[in-house]
Amino acid sequence: MNFFESIFPENFRFFSEVVRNSSSSRAYIFWGPDGIGKLSFAKFFARSFLCGTMPPCGFCSQCAFEEHPDVLVVSRKEGDERLKAEYVREAIRFARFQPYSFFKFIIFSEAHLMTQQSFSALLKAIEEPKQYVTYILVTSKIDFIPPTILSRCIRVRFFPKDFNTFVMEKLKGKFQNENFISLVHKIAYFNPSIIDMIESEEEFSKIWEMIESAVAEKPEFKSNFINLVEYYIGQDREKARKFLDFFEVFLLSNIEKLKSSSITFWEKIKRARMMLDTYFINPKFVLTSIIF
Ligand SMILES: [Zn+2]
Repeated sequence: MNFFESIFPENFRFFSEVVRNSSSSRAYIFWGPDGIGKLSFAKFFARSFLCGTMPPCGFCSQCAFEEHPDVLVVSRKEGDERLKAEYVREAIRFARFQPYSFFKFIIFSEAHLMTQQSFSALLKAIEEPKQYVTYILVTSKIDFIPPTILSRCIRVRFFPKDFNTFVMEKLKGKFQNENFISLVHKIAYFNPSIIDMIESEEEFSKIWEMIESAVAEKPEFKSNFINLVEYYIGQDREKARKFLDFFEVFLLSNIEKLKSSSITFWEKIKRARMMLDTYFINPKFVLTSIIF
């Protein structure tokens, strides 16, 4: 059985039909939790459609491409907070040319990060009558997509058939250490995309120690937190952002235990993210502000 067929059986069946009939809709929105493979499925569907069978045969002239010239994935570039309008306009230009094969796919990763201008540009493109283009918006935050766009898309929800097993398998695919796996599993269940974000066990342990020091109320933990920020984050803005992402998932998985203090932390995280976008504010200072 194909991997996608086992975790998203309904979606697999639905898109198999689309491939079989060779008639794709103008626009789809793939929504569901982060880190479960929505974007991979979008690419998989596009390649299947161009091949004519799902999963793709792997031998035909369309499958011969490693990167198919008719499949464009639009995503945020490093350092960008949002999916800028210029990327969307670039994608629309791509849509104007005849396809190399017979059809084109434009996939927007993290579509909820589009700016207002991006959404307006996209809306115009979706409304343009082009018979050979399908737009796929991939998102974990469907509430952020304007209704004018939503109403023009077919909504497809993604949720793994057995979520717990899915998270476990994903972890085991990346790490071996059993203790480590069970530690990460506690929070990855709430957002499996953190598994993709972990670079090494050592890195995660550092971040974990920081989180535990941040939520502990005793003063000695506060000084430990400050030391860790000094030593591990320093001036690194990306590391600071990463810490906030992990911290957020940690809070999500400990709502019961932390009660009202988790709300306070949430607000602090939100503010810290905004401060990190201001280039002259020291990341070390931003993170330290979380515990006071
Ligand atoms: Zn093929």
